[in-house]
Amino acid sequence: MSAVSAISAADIISILKAEVENYNWDSVEQEVGTVIWVGDGIATVYGIDHAMYGEIVVFDTGVKGMVQDIRKNEIGCILFGRDTEVKEGTKVTRTKKKAGIPVGDEYIGRVVNALGEPIDDKGEILFEDYRPIEEEAPGIVERKSVDTPLETGILSIDSMFPIGRGQRELIIGDRQTGKTSIALDAILNQKGKGVICIYVAIGQKASSVAKLVSTLEHHGALGYSIVVVSTASDPSSLQYIAPYAGTALGEHFMRQGKDVLMVYDDLSKHAVAYRALSLLLERSPGREAYPGDVFYLHSRLLERSCRLSDKMGGGSITSLPIVETQAGDVSAYIPTNVISITDGQIFLESDLFFAGMRPAVNVGLSVSRVGGAAQTKAMKKASGSIRINLAQYREMEVFTQFSSDLDETTKQQLQHGKVLMELLKQPLAQPLSLHEKVMTLCLAENHIFDDVDVKKVKSFQSEILGFLGRNHPHLGAEIEEKKALTDELAEQIIAAAREYKSR
Ligand code: ATP
Ligand code: MG
Repeated sequence: MSAVSAISAADIISILKAEVENYNWDSVEQEVGTVIWVGDGIATVYGIDHAMYGEIVVFDTGVKGMVQDIRKNEIGCILFGRDTEVKEGTKVTRTKKKAGIPVGDEYIGRVVNALGEPIDDKGEILFEDYRPIEEEAPGIVERKSVDTPLETGILSIDSMFPIGRGQRELIIGDRQTGKTSIALDAILNQKGKGVICIYVAIGQKASSVAKLVSTLEHHGALGYSIVVVSTASDPSSLQYIAPYAGTALGEHFMRQGKDVLMVYDDLSKHAVAYRALSLLLERSPGREAYPGDVFYLHSRLLERSCRLSDKMGGGSITSLPIVETQAGDVSAYIPTNVISITDGQIFLESDLFFAGMRPAVNVGLSVSRVGGAAQTKAMKKASGSIRINLAQYREMEVFTQFSSDLDETTKQQLQHGKVLMELLKQPLAQPLSLHEKVMTLCLAENHIFDDVDVKKVKSFQSEILGFLGRNHPHLGAEIEEKKALTDELAEQIIAAAREYKSR
């Protein structure tokens, strides 16, 4: 027989096994490349062949970068630091790790940058774990539907556009219409309710963030909050990862079964930072010069907000993304994208804001698609007709603007609408508790405020709430305890209010 048959299959296998076992992995581990181009926070690296998308690479100067673009012979990286020391020829090493940030309970009460490093002069943060900044969203089986309210303490929102734990509700409006204020009030209202709040500032002025942090501190809200900051002067790469990093922190708490409230302020600036990176990476621009995957940019972020099932611990991430519009145009690219991703939006309008209606919520264009399921029985009953009444009022207001002689019912309806609008005004940092909201709505519905001078409605509201609290404390206590409003209870509230009025 020939020599060929002398090699059996078993021999071949053993030779291959030996080759695999003796394979020198070290040479792969040490995969090193060279910078061939650098500028504007982007570096192109030649010689690294196996890098993954999103992997962290380390430059000789100590600066870290993230692989964002994989081309035929080179990779494009975004730099998480100054690019002045990185030069052509600088060596780059793979880490084989995806970008992650340290997480831990110690983060509560702190102000950190997008890499999780403290920037508040309160010393090091002891972390427990690392979490990838980009994590796959929980699947359907791991989730539960939204059934617990997350109250903002703002009457117009909790009554008409309720938010549930695990929901994503967009806050949208032009510049300076009170978007941040709504999110901030929602955070302040979580005091003592076991919700951890994470505020992510993206591309904002450092002074605005400092103001926000001091407001949180002033109201004792920093004790249950984390502020993740990437200011306008930070490189685009940090602005780009900030919301993902914030969410990774949130997931750490959600996985412990806790409830988290995330605020992304704002996603318009986030999209702009991503657009800058994409253009520098020479990706082809599409509509409004955004890259083609800008929808995915926000959908993969917001999809991570959810309510986990009981089996998974029952934690939740509720998110309030903020988007800024130009001249109220909600049909621009980023607003339409984020509207279609979220479970509803609170639309703030400059005209209302300047007319003194603050918070400037546009009742017609705002909606909450899942929050109704999470509203307490008391709130649901008390707020039953407010939207219809307000819609009627708005319609009638337009028609009756120029006519002078109105019949009695129209006049009454107009007055009722005006009173409702007045009651929905709310100053900053004065959240209402459940029973205060329910009582206000119950009294409004029963026309208790209708004969009060419109200008005095707000002060009358606080007087009457004060009176009910002092002289009939059991009414409020019953609402808080049973979270329901029975007909008897409503009658008692109205009777007590009449008693106050008769004085
Ligand atoms: P930007 O576009 O600059 O981010 P914004 O839409 O986030 O602005 P805010 O910063 O929240 O708006 O508010 C703008 C101004 O309006 C602030 O000075 C704030 O104090 C005031 N404001 C907001 N809401 C209310 C309110 N309910 N009552 C009184 N003043 C308010
Ligand atoms: Mg703002």
